[in-house]
Amino acid sequence: MGQVILELSGIKKSYGQGESLVEVLHDVNLKINKGELVAIIGPSGSGKSTLMNIIGCLDTPTQGSYKVNGQNTFAMLPDELAALRRNFFGFIFQRYHLLGHLDAKENVQIPSIYAGIDKERRTQKAISLLEKLGLKNKVENRPSQLSGGQQQRVSIARALINGGQIILADEPTGALDSKSGEEVMQILTQLNEQGHTIILVTHDPKIAAHAHRVITIKDGRVESDTVNDAIPDHQDVQSKAVDEIKSSKLVDLLRAYADRFKEAYVMAIRAMVSNRMRTLLTMLGIIIGIMSVVSVVALARGASDKVIENISSMGTNTISIMPGERMGDMRSGKVRTLSIKDLKALKGQPFVDSATPTVQTSGLVQRGNVDSTATIMGVSNEYFRVYGIEVDKGRLFSDDESESSPQIGVIDYTTKTTLFPHDDAIGKRIFVLGKPVTVVGVLVDKDVAFTRSGSLNIFVPYSTLMTRIVKQNYISSIIVRTSDGFSPAVAEASINNLIKSRHGRQDFFMFSSDTIMKSISETTGTFTLLISAIAVISLIVGGIGVMNIMLVSVTERTREIGIRMAVGARRSDIMTQFLIESITVCIVGGLLGVFFSMILGGILKVLVPAIPLSFSLTSIVIAVLTSSIIGVVFGYMPARSAAKLNPIDALARD
Ligand code: ADP
Ligand code: MG
Repeated sequence: MGQVILELSGIKKSYGQGESLVEVLHDVNLKINKGELVAIIGPSGSGKSTLMNIIGCLDTPTQGSYKVNGQNTFAMLPDELAALRRNFFGFIFQRYHLLGHLDAKENVQIPSIYAGIDKERRTQKAISLLEKLGLKNKVENRPSQLSGGQQQRVSIARALINGGQIILADEPTGALDSKSGEEVMQILTQLNEQGHTIILVTHDPKIAAHAHRVITIKDGRVESDTVNDAIPDHQDVQSKAVDEIKSSKLVDLLRAYADRFKEAYVMAIRAMVSNRMRTLLTMLGIIIGIMSVVSVVALARGASDKVIENISSMGTNTISIMPGERMGDMRSGKVRTLSIKDLKALKGQPFVDSATPTVQTSGLVQRGNVDSTATIMGVSNEYFRVYGIEVDKGRLFSDDESESSPQIGVIDYTTKTTLFPHDDAIGKRIFVLGKPVTVVGVLVDKDVAFTRSGSLNIFVPYSTLMTRIVKQNYISSIIVRTSDGFSPAVAEASINNLIKSRHGRQDFFMFSSDTIMKSISETTGTFTLLISAIAVISLIVGGIGVMNIMLVSVTERTREIGIRMAVGARRSDIMTQFLIESITVCIVGGLLGVFFSMILGGILKVLVPAIPLSFSLTSIVIAVLTSSIIGVVFGYMPARSAAKLNPIDALARD
């Protein structure tokens, strides 16, 4: 007798539980010696496959002990069992169980990928095995391009790539025509002669005749166990069997890990590409989520940039004083206490560099037979300096003209094109609220701060407006430019005290570019918070979409998972593969989201130039990071459920 390599004692296996509990194997005791070619025969349903699956560590017995090389499998962890399947056993199934989206040489390599063999060596080995099995010209064919016999030879090569010391073949010829079946049997016999231990399930007595030992199973029991002839004298494969890297050097382990990771990545990408539609649907939620978040953030940024630009056109160091209690006060139009005297008082203060009044009204302007409604602003010459307004043609008012009521005016570009579409405006006379005014300047074509774009704006000296055009003694606002060296806050407080003591009450309010900036940045902050909340919600919804489709994907690919596990994939390998898939889906979805949002930005820029989108690198990076985190979080559950599958349950499902 040879050396005992497998030992089953008191093995029982039952399926189901409670009332429907059925015992399929009853007290099986077997010893398999190294180098044997064992045929297991028996009627259908007698428990042969169940026994084979237990022998191959694809399934666990309900009771009894099973020792491989003297080691009890009962005490082994899932990954240790996977290592046995990978390095010690080689499985050949009746229906080949090849992966349809991989070609022959890739199918053969799967067990060695999980064993950490480097790419060059395993490719070489796969090709040489396929050549030996007569598939030299078929290494790049997919299973669908191979006959049954050829597919079975590919699966034999797969069983051998990591050594295949014990080959388990469950009805390997069951699906083949007699000629291919004959060939497969020949290969198995040769392998046995080369030293592989072979256990074979078959119906065919002719095939059983090849074997030197025949075990008959009936109703879950060993009915007979006959040895036909002695174990042939052959070389020992054990020494060259296990090829898995055993090195404890960190570099080697890292290389093996990186290699497995790369393979997992390639497999994930292939799975995604071969299921384009499903992949796209999975991404949709993420694409829409990221796209809306990035766009809204860009919109908010664009809008606040625009406002800030407008505010800075107010100039720095300026404080506006207006009648009323606060911005938007409905009664402010009725408060008429702000006057030129206030202005004069302010001008005497050390913290005031310059001050200009504004008097605002609106009404009809005419030139020849053209008329239109315009906003008429009475201002001093300093007004233009404070707001950085420049003339395109002609000139602005002088210091004297501001106070001496000359009937002159400066018009903005819109007014020029409305009243003087075809000719020059300088030196021409127009009628403002029925009073003649000579145009001395035309402003550059640019929106003036605090005006509506497209509306007509005419600037006349405040003295002219107050004495000749509308005849009023109160003004609309005073704009103060503070002297350098005074803090805006101190200046603001001093102005407040001064005007308050002059009026005897607080019937005015002030704002400066600084305070506006501050309130804008506060508003933007709140807004950003709100957007972030919406972002989180939409991304969670997208993530749940990813999770659902991944769960479906796991269910759909249960057989693939089963095959991978049967040839030795660890739980972590399966987990990695599915996690990579979900992370990649999410990252690609995120990038597409950013891309679409930028396209949207481009379109908006053309259609609505007033609302610019301003993309920031930070928000894009955060978006992509977030989507990869979603990938991990929502991919974890499906990946784990895939990794936890029992290999034989996964394989059995179709
Ligand atoms: P054989 O391979 O000899 O044809 P099997 O080992 O496949 O037989 O099956 C033996 C018995 O166990 C059969 O009666 C079958 O119905 C039952 N069986 C096999 N697998 C399962 C399972 N997963 N759940 C319940 N019963 C099963
Ligand atoms: Mg069977």
